Amino acid sequence: MNKILKVGIVGTGIQGISNALFLLKKGFEVTIFDRNEPGSPTASYGNAGHFSPYASVPLNRPDVIADVPAMLLSSSGPLALKWNYVHKMIPWFIKFINNSTKKKMMHTAKNMHQILDLALPAYDELFQEIELQGLVENKGILYIWNEKDLKSRELEINIRKELGVKQQLVNSKEIHDLEPKIKPFYHGGVYYPYAKHARNPKKILLKLFDLFLKKGGKFIKINIENIKFNGDKPILKTETQNYFFDKVVIACGAFSKRLTDNLNENIPLETERGYHVHFKDCDDLLNRPVIFSNRGFGISPMEQGLRVVGTVEFGGLNNPISKGRIKNLINNAKYMLGDLPEHADEWLGFRPTLPDFLPVIGPSKNHKNVFYCFGHHHLGWTLGAISGKIISGMIANENTNLNLDPYSSKRFS
Ligand SMILES: Cc1cc2nc3c(=O)[nH]c(=O)nc-3n(C[C@H](O)[C@H](O)[C@H](O)COP(=O)(O)OP(=O)(O)OC[C@H]3O[C@@H](n4cnc5c(N)ncnc54)[C@H](O)[C@@H]3O)c2cc1C
Repeated sequence: MNKILKVGIVGTGIQGISNALFLLKKGFEVTIFDRNEPGSPTASYGNAGHFSPYASVPLNRPDVIADVPAMLLSSSGPLALKWNYVHKMIPWFIKFINNSTKKKMMHTAKNMHQILDLALPAYDELFQEIELQGLVENKGILYIWNEKDLKSRELEINIRKELGVKQQLVNSKEIHDLEPKIKPFYHGGVYYPYAKHARNPKKILLKLFDLFLKKGGKFIKINIENIKFNGDKPILKTETQNYFFDKVVIACGAFSKRLTDNLNENIPLETERGYHVHFKDCDDLLNRPVIFSNRGFGISPMEQGLRVVGTVEFGGLNNPISKGRIKNLINNAKYMLGDLPEHADEWLGFRPTLPDFLPVIGPSKNHKNVFYCFGHHHLGWTLGAISGKIISGMIANENTNLNLDPYSSKRFS
């Protein structure tokens, strides 16, 4: 009989847990490490809960670059900078600009579409083993806009059309029929009836984690400091201990760079900081998540109330929460829905983002037994299950029809 291979995973976000469950299915012995308890307030806890398989149009695109100065100057806009971090961001910004040509944008869109298209079926494989009890809603996701920046909306619609993404354009009346409580500031929108949303991402994550434990997976709450090697076999090192494995997966979201730097791979991972607040007991104001495209924020009805989510703030992992960004979300929510009660739960989370807006999914450039699964930016919740399925197939040496080269870390060498 073949020896059962031991796999260590760093990170219990949606990426780490999805990797772990698919690896268990394939018969590996799996241990996950995290310095926090599963379900702690990292990105996989506080996101907008969208399962959005249609969202292949990336942010690295010519129209976004042209709009950046205006967005930075607008207090109602989606973009912000922590000025003390700008100098650290410059190399990333240069790479981002270089990746924003029409050709590179289409490369990203096509390769995001490849995995997004498989995202929901991959979740079905995990969700059939847990009781979701109303935690995932099938009411679609709605985007609305006013008459500003119509060229950007047109670009998005055309790219999705080219890729074969199903989309339903809606007029003001149809938007009102879908969401009668939104103030009528909008002129048009797009509706994705097949998209789903989580009413409580944390609860779903914990249910998947419990399934992992029930199936024999092990969890160790500890910070991984470094990765060393015994021959070509990886060792996860903590302050006091060494853990030996046949393979390891780094799934630390925006915090992955410290470990990949230690492996001598200079992967340009940065964070797009994002925020949420809740308006408790208001979730009956919306039937489904609604995103106001011009202002780059969204509101999702959740168990905690209405979760208002948004902002792309460049400021690294250590800067404190920006009160201005919280205010921006509150004002935007009131613009959309009118009077709302006092908000609760000011949360800051870290989207892990590469300058070409493709994730890193695959083996390390320098170490064949180390795998990477991070950098899923705005779509890491949607892409959890499919990314875990892909990595588990790689570790099991299975053949695939997918072209996985675009997600390799080698693209940065
Ligand atoms: C405001 C906001 C809204 C979003 N909305 C959506 C959405 O609607 N739909 C969507 O698809 N995506 C959304 N996203 C993106 C999505 O949430 C993230 O891409 C995804 O959660 C990243 O998951 P992850 O598992 O890679 O990382 P994380 O969830 O950040 O988990 C990483 C884990 O690694 C652990 N860790 C890090 N370093 C170490 C170490 N050295 N040792 C031990 N443990 C370590 C951390 O403690 C953490 O638990 C949103 C993100 C934000 C911020």
